Amino acid sequence: RFITFEGIDGAGKTTHIDALEQVWRQAGHEVVRTREPGGTPLAEQLRGLFLHQPMDALTEALLVFAGRRDHLTTVIEPALARGARVLCDRFTDATFAYQGGGRGFDLSVLATLEQWVQQGRQPELTLLFDLPPDVAAGRLSAARQPDRFEAQDTAFFERVRAGYRARVAAQPTRFALIDASRTPAEVAEQVRAVLAERGLA
Ligand code: ATP
Ligand code: C5P
Ligand code: MG
Repeated sequence: RFITFEGIDGAGKTTHIDALEQVWRQAGHEVVRTREPGGTPLAEQLRGLFLHQPMDALTEALLVFAGRRDHLTTVIEPALARGARVLCDRFTDATFAYQGGGRGFDLSVLATLEQWVQQGRQPELTLLFDLPPDVAAGRLSAARQPDRFEAQDTAFFERVRAGYRARVAAQPTRFALIDASRTPAEVAEQVRAVLAERGLA
């Protein structure tokens, strides 16, 4: 079972993936909790470059898909093969949203890379934490040093949000839209209801 969490920076992905990981572990499931960009030693090294070096959008896409290939072949596919539940904090939808929507990079090239790298593998469920960029930005600690993306303006995150919504429109059955502007308890309840609906309680 392969579940991904998506949404703009500050949407609440990590908060709710933490909670779900705990619930599932307590219920005795094998949980593989991972993230992108990253998730393997090689892909974490690429993440460091990706987050801090200026580069064009194709270079970004090639780096995240290279990391994704390593992540899929060495972590995700083996975990799925042994029946673990894989929780991934961002995956390919983020590439379509940030490099495609945010940076305006060609979506058909991303779709080709997706096919090459994933060979048809898709998450069975993707929770999209949707909320206005100004609300999300207000949640990110002012004390934290922003990475290259978090320093972007509201217009960039509006395009990222639209990029995510376009993925939902194209693949509606894979996604569950979460209203992430609500209180943490209300968001947790939406997540719980979606998982129950999909037989993932
Ligand atoms: P990033 O993409 O930057 O990793 P994220 O989607 O993982 O962000 P979190 O780190 O989970 O977001 O949340 C960002 C901040 O907002 C945290 O300080 C978290 O405690 C807080 N937060 C999470 N959910 C809510 C909520 N529903 N209402 C208010 N604050 C929230
Ligand atoms: O969610 P996390 O904090 O791990 O994401 C790292 C950063 O990388 C975020 O600022 C996010 O905006 C950015 N990112 C990106 N393109 C992706 C995935 C993440 O720009 N495909
Ligand atoms: Mg996070």
